[in-house]
Amino acid sequence: MESSKYTDDTLVIYLELINYYNDMGVVLQSTLRRSASDLLHLVEVGGKVRLVKEAYQENEQIAFHSNEKVNANYRKLLEMLFRHNHHQLKNKEVDDNTLMFAIATHDSQLIEYTIELWKNSKIGIKNFEFQFLRGIRDEMRKDLVEKGFRIVEYISYGREWLHYSIRRLRERKRNIFLLARSLVQS
Ligand SMILES: Cc1cc2nc3c(=O)[nH]c(=O)nc-3n(C[C@H](O)[C@H](O)[C@H](O)COP(=O)(O)OP(=O)(O)OC[C@H]3O[C@@H](n4cnc5c(N)ncnc54)[C@H](O)[C@@H]3O)c2cc1C
Repeated sequence: MESSKYTDDTLVIYLELINYYNDMGVVLQSTLRRSASDLLHLVEVGGKVRLVKEAYQENEQIAFHSNEKVNANYRKLLEMLFRHNHHQLKNKEVDDNTLMFAIATHDSQLIEYTIELWKNSKIGIKNFEFQFLRGIRDEMRKDLVEKGFRIVEYISYGREWLHYSIRRLRERKRNIFLLARSLVQS
């Protein structure tokens, strides 16, 4: 998911494509105020969501700016993901091995909160996964693998990887550290 300029178009395209490719997923960003209502719509149609904070700087009218609010919204969206997907499992729409959603953050408090929600739910350990940018938080990743969780490493690939990375850097200076560390370590 790119910045909010593209959210509507991306979701419209996604909603069309999942009619043909039901394993496809889409990203929602906890920074955006609209994400809770987007999530409700997506889960109704069986969409698979990757939850992130957001890599872009957005206008305060449409986005939360303080870390507390972004994190509080992330928690709320996590709760919604666990609640809704529990229904899908209960209604036997999916089995224990079906991947339903992804948690893409390096924030240890949010990862711990996810595990807490999972323990209090009937969601299977393979029904969701944690996703990390390559080279970041290796020690946490190892620990999660040992506990049996699914882990995915995110890497840029293909001819456009450099353009993509530069675009991300322009959007938010803090990403320089994330990208540089990821490239050096990998
Ligand atoms: C798999 C994946 C896919 C993504 N896809 C998208 C997307 O499609 N669209 C989009 O807008 N954004 C995307 N992002 C980026 C995301 O929105 C955040 O900008 C990025 O992940 C940083 O936020 P955070 O959740 O890790 O939390 P932050 O608040 O940045 O970090 C929380 C804590 O994690 C730790 N931490 C974070 N980074 C590091 C580091 N480099 N080294 C050590 N500790 C660190 C620190 O303790 C920090 O306090 C994606 C991220 C991942 C992991």
